[in-house]
Amino acid sequence: MSAFDYDLFVIGGGSGGVRSGRLAAALGRKVAIAEEFRYGGTCVIRGCVPKKLYVYASQYSEHFGDAAGFGWSVGESHFDWKKLVAAKEQEITRLEGLYQKGLANAGAEILNTRAELTGPNEVRLLASGKTVTAERILIAVGGHPSPHDALPGHELCITSNEAFDLPELPKSILIAGGGYIAVEFANVFHGLGVETTLIYRGKEILSRFDQDLRRGLHAAMEEKGIRILCEDLIQSVSAGADGQRIAKTMKHGDIAVDQVMLALGRVPNTKGLGLENAGVKINERGAIIVDAFSRTSAPGIYALGDVTDRVQLTPVAIHEAMCFIETEYKNNPTSPDHDLIATAVFSQPEIGTVGMSEEEAARKFDQLEVYRAEFRPMKATLSGRKDKMIMKLVVNAADRKVVGAHILGHDAGEMAQLLGISLKARCTKNDFDRTMAVHPTAAEELVTMYQPSYRVRNGERVA
Ligand code: NDP
Repeated sequence: MSAFDYDLFVIGGGSGGVRSGRLAAALGRKVAIAEEFRYGGTCVIRGCVPKKLYVYASQYSEHFGDAAGFGWSVGESHFDWKKLVAAKEQEITRLEGLYQKGLANAGAEILNTRAELTGPNEVRLLASGKTVTAERILIAVGGHPSPHDALPGHELCITSNEAFDLPELPKSILIAGGGYIAVEFANVFHGLGVETTLIYRGKEILSRFDQDLRRGLHAAMEEKGIRILCEDLIQSVSAGADGQRIAKTMKHGDIAVDQVMLALGRVPNTKGLGLENAGVKINERGAIIVDAFSRTSAPGIYALGDVTDRVQLTPVAIHEAMCFIETEYKNNPTSPDHDLIATAVFSQPEIGTVGMSEEEAARKFDQLEVYRAEFRPMKATLSGRKDKMIMKLVVNAADRKVVGAHILGHDAGEMAQLLGISLKARCTKNDFDRTMAVHPTAAEELVTMYQPSYRVRNGERVA
């Protein structure tokens, strides 16, 4: 009989924690999992899932507008924010239930409590005050939006956590940041009819993406009516008349809006977790330091997902969880593979991307071939919308491997998923060329760009 209460104790009921707990329990291990808020974690409760639902909601304004070009007359339309929030709540509650059901069916013990480390193999459950022991402890507590304490008036601002459940839809909003969350929410709020301004400190939004997509999305968002202020910062936020917020900016004066939303990155949830009691080390950003097998500095304690700040994406946390199970419970040491992760920004138009940006590839390889198409999507011909779609393949000229694929436009995320397989399989441009097109689609451009648009030699663009 084990000397511990549990074989595995999981702290955190998000994507990584639930997957680990469920799989370990299904293998017959004695597992408990503790969650202090709601099962499903950021992704299900206040991240990916509700975000995507709100993206769908926000697209209807364009759909109604486009319909006329196809012969439809759409009557007067009206949007009800409270109805959307309630529908979203119903759906995430359903998913939360499924997460718990999966755990219960596998035989895991589900605890609704905050849990903190009190020693190397010991956890205290705050709801009951009870202390339990486990052979292995897995920390998968995720992160939270940076509150940006250094900003005077930050307490008057909201983050993505609050944005989903605002009691009223604001008439105007100022969103700070130029990353995934800022860009996605700017498009959502704009689509729902909110006067939207984005303020970003850098030269161009989405700093880690290919320049073409960054510029293309910026132009498309401005064309829709989203105001984008680059190379500027909010210096302070104060309360104005009628509940408004006044944001003092460095270059664009005072901006009065109903809400200011901060989307300035996410911080690992390591505060107050008792890490020091167990000898778990964190880095300067507060993230738990782990090795290639998600092992922390303390024997028997593991961490994965956003709390380790490797790549803050749901599928990555799930993958890390499956590797943890392989390594610890299936005698098959497997370290997570963080190379070539396809990703999407659910902006409008969407971004889908996998592999290196042209800029990154130009630093790494002597010669590149760049295949690029910019065109009006078919739907826009009748709708009259000024949409442009951009598709780009970055090819290492030496071996013809496609090292980056980038798309701006409808369904770019769906396409990125499939391109992810091609890049992971190390396909060459020749493989793309001998693939038959699916017609008429936008994606067919990916296999019909036969001549390079331009080449890059030693970092310089040549004809
Ligand atoms: P990101 O890291 O994507 O972006 C943070 C933004 O805030 C950047 O533009 C950054 O600027 C800016 N910033 C950071 N600190 C400051 C500061 N002190 N003052 C001014 N600007 C600042 O974080 P998000 O919060 O948007 O998202 C968090 C993570 O969640 C993402 O990294 C992503 O992994 C994940 N996510 C994924 C989604 C998806 O897959 N579709 C959707 C939403 C989130 P700079 O670029 O100059 O550093």
